[in-house]
Amino acid sequence: MAAAESDRDAPSALCSEFLNFSAKDTALGWLQATDLPKEVYQHLAVYVPKIYCLGPNINPQSEELLAQLLLLAPLEWYLCGEDPAVGLAQLEHSNQRSQLCGHVFKVGEPTYSCRECAADPTCVLCMQCFLGSIHKEHRYRMTTSGGGGFCDCGDTEAWKKGPYCHKHEPNITDTDCSQEDPITPLSADLVARGYNIFSVMLKYAVDMLTWDMEDLLPEGLEPLDRGDTYYCMLFNDEVHTYEQVIYTLQKAVNCTQKEAVSFATTVDRDGRKSVRFGDFQFCEQAKSVIVRNTSRQSKPLRVQVMHSSVVAHQCFALKVLTWLGHIIAYSDGLRRILCQVGLQKAPEGENSSLVDILMLCDSKMWKGARNVYHQLLMSSLLMDLKYKKIFAIQFAKNYERLQSDFVRDDHDREFSITDLSVQMFTVPSLARMLIVEENLMTTIIRTFVDHLRHRDLQGRFQFERYTAQQAFKFRRVQSLIGDLKYVLISRPTEWSEQLREKFQEGVDAFLELLKCMQGMDPVVRQVGQHIEMEPEWEAAFTLQMKLTHIISMIQEWCSTDECVLIEAYKRCLLALSQCHGGFTDGEQPISLSLAGHSVDTIRYQVSQERVSIHLPVSRLLAGLHVLLSKTELAYRCPELLPLSELSPPMLIEHPLRCLVLCAQVHAGMWRRNGFSLINQIYYYHNVKCRVEMFDKDIIMLQAGASMMDPNHFLMIALSRFELFNIFSAADCRKRYRDGNKDVVQQNNTLIEEMLHLIIMVVGERFVVGVGQVEQYDDIRREIVHQLCIRPMAHSELVKALPENENKETGMERVIDSVAVFKKPGVTGRGLYELRPEWTQHFNLYFHHYSRADQSKAEEAQRKRRRQSGEDSALPPPRLPPLCPLFGSLVNLLQCDVLLAIVGAVLQWATEPSGGHWSESMLQRVLHIVGMALLEEQQQLENSCGEEDVTFNFTIKITRPGEAPSNTGSVLALLESLQNAPHLEVHKDMIHWILKMVTTIKTMRERSPATSAVSTCGGQGLEEVAGERDKAEKKRKAEMARLRREKVMAQMSEMQKHFINENKELFQQSLEELEASTSSGPDHSPVCVEVPAAVVCVGPWQSVRADRRQLVTCILCQEEQEVKGQGRAMVLAAFVQRSTVLSKNRRRPPPDPESHDPLFMNPDLAFGTHTASCGHIMHSTCWQRYFEAVQAKEQRRQQRVRVHTSYDVENGEFLCPLCQCLSNTVIPLLPRAQTHSPSADQPSLEQWLKTTGQQVAALHSTHRKQLSDGGEAEEEMEREESSPPKGFRVDHIPMNPFSSSIREMLTTFGTATYKIGLKVNPNDQDSRVPIMSWASCAYTIQSIERLLVDEEKPLFGSLPCRQDDCLSSLTRFASACWTAAPLTTVQTHCMRLLSAVLPDPQVQNAPCILDIDMFHLLVSSVLSYSSINCLDQSGQNVLDSAHLHLLHLITVAHMVQILLTCTPVEVSMDQESGTAEREEEEMICQLYNHLRTHLDSLLPPLSSGWHVWRCVKAGILPFLRASALFFHHLNTTSAPLELHVVGPGQWEALCSYLSLPSNLLQLYHSQLSLLEPLIQRWCCHPAVREALQGGSVLIRFPRESNRLIDLPEDYSSLINQASSFTCPRSGVDKSRAPTLCLVCGAMLCSQSYCCQTELEGEDVGACTAHTFSCGAGLGLFLRVRESQVLFLAGKTKGCFYPPPYLDDYGETDQGLRRGNPLHLCRERYGKIQRLWRQHSITEEIGHAQEANQSLVGIEWQHL
Ligand SMILES: [Zn+2]
Ligand SMILES: [Zn+2]
Ligand SMILES: [Zn+2]
Ligand SMILES: [Zn+2]
Ligand SMILES: [Zn+2]
Ligand SMILES: [Zn+2]
Ligand SMILES: [Zn+2]
Repeated sequence: MAAAESDRDAPSALCSEFLNFSAKDTALGWLQATDLPKEVYQHLAVYVPKIYCLGPNINPQSEELLAQLLLLAPLEWYLCGEDPAVGLAQLEHSNQRSQLCGHVFKVGEPTYSCRECAADPTCVLCMQCFLGSIHKEHRYRMTTSGGGGFCDCGDTEAWKKGPYCHKHEPNITDTDCSQEDPITPLSADLVARGYNIFSVMLKYAVDMLTWDMEDLLPEGLEPLDRGDTYYCMLFNDEVHTYEQVIYTLQKAVNCTQKEAVSFATTVDRDGRKSVRFGDFQFCEQAKSVIVRNTSRQSKPLRVQVMHSSVVAHQCFALKVLTWLGHIIAYSDGLRRILCQVGLQKAPEGENSSLVDILMLCDSKMWKGARNVYHQLLMSSLLMDLKYKKIFAIQFAKNYERLQSDFVRDDHDREFSITDLSVQMFTVPSLARMLIVEENLMTTIIRTFVDHLRHRDLQGRFQFERYTAQQAFKFRRVQSLIGDLKYVLISRPTEWSEQLREKFQEGVDAFLELLKCMQGMDPVVRQVGQHIEMEPEWEAAFTLQMKLTHIISMIQEWCSTDECVLIEAYKRCLLALSQCHGGFTDGEQPISLSLAGHSVDTIRYQVSQERVSIHLPVSRLLAGLHVLLSKTELAYRCPELLPLSELSPPMLIEHPLRCLVLCAQVHAGMWRRNGFSLINQIYYYHNVKCRVEMFDKDIIMLQAGASMMDPNHFLMIALSRFELFNIFSAADCRKRYRDGNKDVVQQNNTLIEEMLHLIIMVVGERFVVGVGQVEQYDDIRREIVHQLCIRPMAHSELVKALPENENKETGMERVIDSVAVFKKPGVTGRGLYELRPEWTQHFNLYFHHYSRADQSKAEEAQRKRRRQSGEDSALPPPRLPPLCPLFGSLVNLLQCDVLLAIVGAVLQWATEPSGGHWSESMLQRVLHIVGMALLEEQQQLENSCGEEDVTFNFTIKITRPGEAPSNTGSVLALLESLQNAPHLEVHKDMIHWILKMVTTIKTMRERSPATSAVSTCGGQGLEEVAGERDKAEKKRKAEMARLRREKVMAQMSEMQKHFINENKELFQQSLEELEASTSSGPDHSPVCVEVPAAVVCVGPWQSVRADRRQLVTCILCQEEQEVKGQGRAMVLAAFVQRSTVLSKNRRRPPPDPESHDPLFMNPDLAFGTHTASCGHIMHSTCWQRYFEAVQAKEQRRQQRVRVHTSYDVENGEFLCPLCQCLSNTVIPLLPRAQTHSPSADQPSLEQWLKTTGQQVAALHSTHRKQLSDGGEAEEEMEREESSPPKGFRVDHIPMNPFSSSIREMLTTFGTATYKIGLKVNPNDQDSRVPIMSWASCAYTIQSIERLLVDEEKPLFGSLPCRQDDCLSSLTRFASACWTAAPLTTVQTHCMRLLSAVLPDPQVQNAPCILDIDMFHLLVSSVLSYSSINCLDQSGQNVLDSAHLHLLHLITVAHMVQILLTCTPVEVSMDQESGTAEREEEEMICQLYNHLRTHLDSLLPPLSSGWHVWRCVKAGILPFLRASALFFHHLNTTSAPLELHVVGPGQWEALCSYLSLPSNLLQLYHSQLSLLEPLIQRWCCHPAVREALQGGSVLIRFPRESNRLIDLPEDYSSLINQASSFTCPRSGVDKSRAPTLCLVCGAMLCSQSYCCQTELEGEDVGACTAHTFSCGAGLGLFLRVRESQVLFLAGKTKGCFYPPPYLDDYGETDQGLRRGNPLHLCRERYGKIQRLWRQHSITEEIGHAQEANQSLVGIEWQHL
């Protein structure tokens, strides 16, 4: 360690040297040197170790600075020959910039690819180029970059159209310059110097980075004085986990966990990190501990002890590479010079250039070094078109070695040089050149095959016995297939002879690969025992999937050149015959005969012998065969084709076996073979594989069948299905009924499957080349059949369609012709619905339907037909004609064997099935008959006469059966079936068939006259048309009826809704009616004086009828009256802290223990919100329920550590009725007693006086109690006036509530206190009642805001549950004082009063600018009862007191608003009437008074009109909230004007609150009383301070908070996030940048680096943020995932769909599809509403209940 200490002061020693150092002189010395490398090395040998790596804690900034001044500056001087500041600027100025953008992508940066113009999906644009390109108007895809790769703007080969953006568009004037060598413009001197210095420095860097000695340096670099200073360097590997490394480091180098985490992070990022610095022994010791600790299970972590000078030079070498990249950015000429230097061959010959050396050492370097030099290659060689080509050739020459290095290495591919292949291979001209000159295609394939050496005896791949090592290798070697795909991705437009030759060589290599796959992973049916171990199957399918696009692309290449196609076909055929050369195995063939035909075939049974799903050679041949048909080669020059060598039975053999295997699996014959086989069958049909598997097998059967006698084909098929014996039996039409039931069942399924196969072989004609169809007809048909199942979203359709190598389905080209797009609402997604005219193309036996799809589609289509009044038959659709090569396939439909099969099944069906035949079997037979009839009809329509119609199915089916069975004809059978009662479901279809037969017969009869055909057809059509008309009428009538019903239903729904919405209104009118009739006369003295309007506060408040309130307990269903002395009833409630209304998010959360919540600050930073689902229980029922939940939870936790969506320990539970999250209950209380007001109510003056006396009396009593009767105190107190008459300080009021209600008062009060302050429950705390009042006030305020935001009237628009919640909450708050010690509440009350009525005995009363007046009103009104209850004078002044308090606080609020309002200059004239003018004058008067108290702190008044408007607007929320409060407190009905939104609100509100509509009269009528008060308010020192800018000044009205504004285009968010770096580590890109939707902060989520400790627990950045920003609640947008995240507390969270939709009305959570996303305001509004309604936690609760997996997520780590 000593050495390290002494070295630490080196930088300061360097300072003096640095002062004397001149970069210019050094460079001049070099210019004159004869041996430049030596001179430069000497310089480096001296300085590099002095600057770099001087210990563990060096300062990177000074390192940077010194390196620039001492090391790089001389290089730059040398290069420029002058001051580099001048020279480089000049170079940059004169540079002819190339048109390539070349912007290198950062991790997470958005990239764009045009789906219409990009040559392949790897061609991407940066955001800037994209926005300036034509592609932003096209269909594009947006992705986030994984880092690396660059913008292809300007690369003409990358884009079919618009290769340049505006910025990179070449100037037409200097197009010729761009072709010129960029070196030419540079001076010869500069070129020479550049060449020299680049050579020296690049060589230095390459030497150092590839240096493998730990203690020595290359010649010329040895340090002058070698100290004993070493580093213990830890290297990255992909074997050990983060945790292992952290643990080991803590042990080995004695560091803290935090340091270990930081080491591990750096090792992971840079590939190496020194973990210890010191002398050799010291480092060796650490190394041995690390090695020892990590070598147990695996190979140990790589650690090296390196001399500090070696490390220093390696650091500088990296710096040099970065510097080179920086310098060449100034000039394309310099860039080319560097390219030359890099690729120049040394005398040693091949692979001796510096770039070669780097490439070949790639896998030996650490990650950081690789990254740096890859960057340099990208910005030099890959940006220079000439050298890109040369580099590509070198890369291709070394391809095999580089790949082998990569396969052996363990780093991810993004850190390998092989990853650069995409930059070269995707350039079509380069790829073509590399194929021709370097035989690249063959090289790639051979390299791939070479790495998979594990084969079986037949030379096929054998993945089953793979070791872990081999499996790892297999995973890595797959990247070669990616390279092959790049090479093949663009098809050649013209072929040279060499290209043909090399491609064919490539095809040969590829066929070798496919031969290794043909027949791999064979299976044998397991009988008796279940298989013991599931065989490995995934590797083979992975390979197949990876190769799928390659196989398709090879076919596409072949299709562009006839010679190539013919040659490939020949070779493929040869390969196939090699695979199955001995497929007869020398056995004697067996002979089959049926229906007068016979055929020889081999002996083989799928159920007994080996069978494989993997037949790529056969399938490639099938693909090529179709191409022969498509290109019409087969007819034009058959002599060139080896058609004679084809043996149709051989062609169909293996595909047929594979299909039979599937059928047998369906039939349950392979159950004992386990899931492995099921999975294989699944993937065989799956959209990812089927194109080159299942589809091609069908084509091969079609090819084979079209070359064979159809009877022979069917007989072979029957034999492979193991059904031949059934149909060849003489009495086959009498199906045996005995025998094993399982076997019968099996055979039924097999027959169904075989019939389905026949339907597919004849009917699947939508491949170009099989049927006469156009491109995209197939995709259109796929879409039609998907939409026949149900309407689907865009992404669902995409998933159901195969993608090509460019990730395109082609769907966009056809979707609009077949479907209508229906936009989504606020939830759900947009859907495509099939256009009705396309339903006639529906084919029930569509080959890509799974069984489930088929039955869903059948049901949907039958339903549709029923709804439109049609019969339920689902006949086959009309089909396109076959291509000539496949033309004879139709004969399958009328061949004797098929007719025999059809006849047999129909015969069986004449008797009700006892299990010996099945409905599906019959349905398929009817379908086949339908197909045949349609075929015949089509042929007749298209022919000129009967003679050329070879298809005569109708004639054949009238023939009776063959001699032995001698039964009726097929037609006769059909006719007899038509009325069979057991075939009701098939009746319509049989009917359709018989009608078709008649139609065709008519056509045939009339056909001799050619014209007749058309008339006949016409007549048929007319008939059909007539029927259609009828059907249409019926349909319309039905539709009309449905519409009527719907309207009726809607109306009754609306009525219900209306009554619900206006429940209160209805009730009120009733109540008012009762009130006026029953008790009207008694109140006449008071009522007369009061206007008829309703009033909610004060002695003249409207009288309401006292009605018993009956409620029902949801748990025991008993009814109960709400009474003060009765059994307590409670309402499930959820209390939460809230910052939704906060106007100051910077305010730190209050300290729970010392916070005094009595006065709410007007910034409303932290409030306590209470909500309820409105469900009522007995308190005892609830307690029992909660205890049960608790017990259950305890048991559950003991058993399994499963979490729930609610936290029982925190008092949480789910409402037993609606499962709504709750954490306490509110007791239901009866409405307050009505006091009949006595005639003389005290005036404000009287009341103030009395209250003053009462307060004084209480003060002295409290003091007495405190000081235990101290003498001095008593003295003082005697001087004070005695309490007013009837006020008895020692009176103990009677508690009006039963014990059960009292208990519930304490329960809810304590819960509010506990949650609101985040403290432990303590029902004795003096703050308990305060929190209850505060929650009441806050909840009312937030509801008032919500109503404004949603533009709803103040009354009547709240849902019942909120109404119920508010009134119980208010009643509770007005009663909660009874549960607390009286003196406590009195003290609170006196302190509250002192805020407006300054009281010398109360200290620290806040100034009026620091008080939220509504909170003050609520608390003072509710606490006043504690003083009032001592008044035993019999005079009831409570209501007057409330009114006086309202008046006082209203005035105070007006003053508060005036003090904070900012009157703007108003220029427009204001028209005002007399009333307004009076108000204006009065407001001016008040304002000027305030000014006199506050001198010039208030600006002079500009316009009274304007200020009055400010005050009115500012006080409105207060008045509205007060109206809600008194409405619920006194249970008065509300005036009708406040049930609607509109004008007249102000007057209605004022009169409801018993206030004058000119509020200023409150002040003017009591000038003498109020003026002194106002003066005292203004003179509070804090007012002055606040107005001078001492604190955050809250202005009124407080605007509702909104969630942050989000950009319209999602990519700007991605862009924003990509430039966001982790705030902790400073440089790292954040992996999960997350945006707070409440305040707009960007956070580094889900990452070690930003974890902080919160309440003794490590939490992620989001959770930490929620505690300061949202009081534990948070709404975030995870930008990379495009996902909204809701968090509540540390344990709750859920994901929510983002407010961004693509053009198809779908979200893209996880950004997987990459469609452009745009903000959907409605959806964002919905999220905002959830937040404002305080429903986020509830939403999380519901999400977690619905999806249990959400409960297990460790939300606190996000
Ligand atoms: Zn760009
Ligand atoms: Zn551009
Ligand atoms: Zn485009
Ligand atoms: Zn009950
Ligand atoms: Zn409920
Ligand atoms: Zn971070
Ligand atoms: Zn925030």
